[in-house]
Amino acid sequence: MPCRLPFDGATSKEKSREDNALDREDKPSLGGRLQPLVAGVLAFALLLAGLWPISSWIRQRGLADLANRSGHVLTLVVETLHGELAKYKSTPFLLAHNPRMTRIVTGVASQEEVAAANAELSRLAQVTDASDIYLMNTTGTTIATSNFDLPRSFMGQNFSYRPYFIEAMKGRLGQYFALGTTSGERGYYFAHPIFEGRYVVGVAVVKIQVGKIEAAWRASDHEIMVVDDDGVVFLSSQPGWVMRTLAPLSDEVRARIAEHRRYDGHTLLGLDMDLGKAEAGIGTLVKLATPSPTPSAGETLAERAGRTVARAQPAKLPYLMQSRAMADAGWTVHIFARTAAVTRQTNTALALILATLTALGLAAFALYQRRRRVSERMQLQASINAELERRVAERTDALTRANLLLEEEVSERRRAERELRQTQSDLVQASKLAALGQMSAGLSHELNQPLAAIRSYAENARKFLARERFDTADANLGLIGDLTERMARIIRHLRTFARKEPTTVRPTLVARAIEDSLALLQRKISDAGAHVSLDIADHSMLAIAGEVRLQQVIVNLVCNALDAVKDGPMRNIDITAREEDGAIVIIVSDSGPGIAQEDLANVFDPFFTTKDVGEGLGLGLSISYGIVQQFGGEIVARNHNAGGAAFEIRLRSALTATETAA
Ligand code: ADP
Repeated sequence: MPCRLPFDGATSKEKSREDNALDREDKPSLGGRLQPLVAGVLAFALLLAGLWPISSWIRQRGLADLANRSGHVLTLVVETLHGELAKYKSTPFLLAHNPRMTRIVTGVASQEEVAAANAELSRLAQVTDASDIYLMNTTGTTIATSNFDLPRSFMGQNFSYRPYFIEAMKGRLGQYFALGTTSGERGYYFAHPIFEGRYVVGVAVVKIQVGKIEAAWRASDHEIMVVDDDGVVFLSSQPGWVMRTLAPLSDEVRARIAEHRRYDGHTLLGLDMDLGKAEAGIGTLVKLATPSPTPSAGETLAERAGRTVARAQPAKLPYLMQSRAMADAGWTVHIFARTAAVTRQTNTALALILATLTALGLAAFALYQRRRRVSERMQLQASINAELERRVAERTDALTRANLLLEEEVSERRRAERELRQTQSDLVQASKLAALGQMSAGLSHELNQPLAAIRSYAENARKFLARERFDTADANLGLIGDLTERMARIIRHLRTFARKEPTTVRPTLVARAIEDSLALLQRKISDAGAHVSLDIADHSMLAIAGEVRLQQVIVNLVCNALDAVKDGPMRNIDITAREEDGAIVIIVSDSGPGIAQEDLANVFDPFFTTKDVGEGLGLGLSISYGIVQQFGGEIVARNHNAGGAAFEIRLRSALTATETAA
């Protein structure tokens, strides 16, 4: 399992602590969540509280508008009524100043004159569209009338109870509204006194049918009523309101009305009306029911059928009432505007405001929530960043420490490597000296032998010189020279071999290294009775190596081969050197017993030996292996087919290496 570096993430405990911290930051507390809720409820309550004045302001504005419009209509109605009355006001005046009429009322006129007056009054009524025009004498009896030829003729009827007559008899203009006792129709009366001298001798009366005016009102959006000075509605756009009172009538008033037979046949019930508060400059808010029309004595069945259908309990509707007095007529005109539309408008406006404010509130809430989330996320991010920075600092610290340790370890390794190299080099040198030691017996023999020969040649040369056998002496001196040359070569080889070579590599002549090695071992080979065959393909082959170290490797391998063959019947050692696939391959094989299969993997191990104590240290192959490694080559051990051991050294060719470098 790979060991974990100190910076390789936090421990699980740390992690859960961090996660918890993150969890805590991610979830707002209950108080945090309630806060905007409470604020929202408060804002909504404030909004509702604020809506109340807004709603009444909107309603007031609506009512003011309505009042303004209905005020115009009221003015129009009053003006129309004024105009209508004014049209007829002068008629009785003109009649009163007509001498023929005076003659009629004073009773001095003939039957023909009366008939002519009747016809004239009838024509006048037609022309002016008056209901009736008639003349009364001082007793109140009608003595000439426009309706003389109709079934409901006033002729001979006495209307002395009518206030307009009473008023006119006092010499003043009598004005009066009442139901016609004969016709049952609502009418307005103008009565003018007919003077003869200073005395009132009769009364000229014109009666107008006011019912026609109502027809125009019904097309209006407004309800209109005209009330007499007792509070009795006698004209209205709503038939159900006619002949009803705005307030209950006192007995006294009822008695007077009965006396004047003003509303004959009507009980004068009260209107079902709730008076609300009067708004300055606007009017009075009322609630008013619309009952079915009260039947009157003069009303026909057809007329009654045309009126509003009777309802059991008519509902009260809200109206804005405005009133204006018509002082000269003794009337008050009330106009009723329906406030339902204003209420609807107010509600619509309120609903709109509420919807807008709610939408704004929701948008504000959404914005607030968004900002809160963003700020929470930023806080979370900041805390994560801080945590990350802390961890990075921690890990950096650990990394720095680990780095320092690593550096220390590296320098320790380097030192160890240096020491190892030094030891190896010392070992190489030591083994070389050991090999020299081994060879020393042979070498001393190698030197002693020519030395002895030189001595005997020298002695012989002296003798030949004494005998003046100069040629023979010269031949002996030549032999001495050859022998010293041979000795010098041996010593040179020894010196070279003993030299401590630097660990660097350079192009080395392979043939020379092999031959020099064999020269050193010459004696040992011959002592062992071995036969060494040398097969060098090309004497100019250059390998990347070091001359002394390559010699040392070959000396080691040949020494081992000599050891291997020394007890055998055949004592052959073969050395081949050739170039193969750009590498230089040197093989040292022998006719010995070979290497045991199980030892093949161990022969290069230091101190591995199968030799007896004192014969082998087990370092030769290990040192050779190290040297070949230094050269960038390789050495392997195997057994060849004939049974002996074969060691194959594979070195880089200097030629190939140069070519590659080039
Ligand atoms: P040493 O010769 O001191 O034992 P070496 O490292 O040179 O140490 O050799 C290690 C061993 O390898 C030898 O003891 C021997 O068993 C085996 N060995 C080396 N060369 C040969 C060879 N030519 N034939 C058989 N065995 C060999």
